[in-house]
Amino acid sequence: MTARAFTGENGDEDVTIKILFCGVCHSDLHVAKNEWGFTNYPVVPGHEMVGTVMKVGSDVKKFKVGERVGVGVIVGSCKKCESCQQDLENYCPQTIFTYNSHYTDGTKTYGGYSDMIVVDERYVLRFPDNLPSEGGAPLLCAGITVYSPMKYYGMTEPGKHLGVAGLGGLGHVAVKMGKAFGLKVTVISSSPKKETEAIERLGADSFLVTSDPAKMKAALGTMDYIIDTVSAVHPLLPLLSLLKLNGKLVTVGLPDKPLELPIFPLVLGRKLVGGSDIGGMKETQEMLDFCAKHGITADVEVIRMDYINTAMERLAKSDVRYRFVIDVASSLSQ
Ligand code: NAP
Ligand code: ZN
Repeated sequence: MTARAFTGENGDEDVTIKILFCGVCHSDLHVAKNEWGFTNYPVVPGHEMVGTVMKVGSDVKKFKVGERVGVGVIVGSCKKCESCQQDLENYCPQTIFTYNSHYTDGTKTYGGYSDMIVVDERYVLRFPDNLPSEGGAPLLCAGITVYSPMKYYGMTEPGKHLGVAGLGGLGHVAVKMGKAFGLKVTVISSSPKKETEAIERLGADSFLVTSDPAKMKAALGTMDYIIDTVSAVHPLLPLLSLLKLNGKLVTVGLPDKPLELPIFPLVLGRKLVGGSDIGGMKETQEMLDFCAKHGITADVEVIRMDYINTAMERLAKSDVRYRFVIDVASSLSQ
């Protein structure tokens, strides 16, 4: 049995990583507050890590000591099931999540708000040289979570119109990816204050505030796809109404309560509602390489570890531009 987590053991297929930066995902907040009801305290959150390889096991083929690598939302899976064989480890029934989960030997997993992690090389990503660690770290969850459904649901046809609901960590990366795919991108937000930066800084083509009925009405039936990243319970009818015939609404946000699904607009407009969960390791690597090629990084507020409680309070109020990233290494060295 390969020992992992904080046992200090580096098994034959494992990589020991010194964590440099770790992004703060809204999922960290949902889990820290037990909003999904399955938090198993104590929890060390964090699943957007970039770090340096300190040690490799004798069977490790992909990585060398000193290389920069990334770790995202999963650190294990069964490797045998249909999902694992199709490089969809994220849909394996035995997925081991980076934190709030258990290894097969029963040891708890702890995430990236820490200085070291030991991970099976299958779940470690090569980090492209031209991606900065701070702005690149959030791609390991926020990036793949929006990239994977855009690819799977065919939401990448140049010239089509993408709506991005919720301009937070996931949403702002979705805007940048949408532009890289050649789409027209409209942000659908509850925060009027984000309009100028959505357009001027993030490159969106237009901006809709959900509380502005006139603008929402003018945009009815204009979008081919919507990716919904909203973290709280919200009505789907306004979003479905923005879609054209055959439009697709893909939800990746994970509110703590079910959303109500209005059936009439779905049926009458032959619309589709889908979901998506992060991405497999192969696709995560593809996404990092895509972002490196297109110069896509997250806009980040780099913080020290001792700011995390304030950061979480601000995240709960959608007050972050657009991802907090913990500078783990310097927090510990001073
Ligand atoms: P985030 O940075 O907090 O962004 C969420 C955005 O949702 C906010 O910026 C805000 O955008 C909007 N929002 C928040 N509360 C709202 C409310 N009450 N009504 C309307 N809009 C509201 O969070 P994130 O890190 O991007 O994560 C978003 C969601 O995705 C979370 O639920 C997270 O757990 C989930 N997630 C899912 C996956 C997956 O694999 N499916 C992976 C990672 C995260 P505006 O200010 O623009 O309205
Ligand atoms: Zn996440």
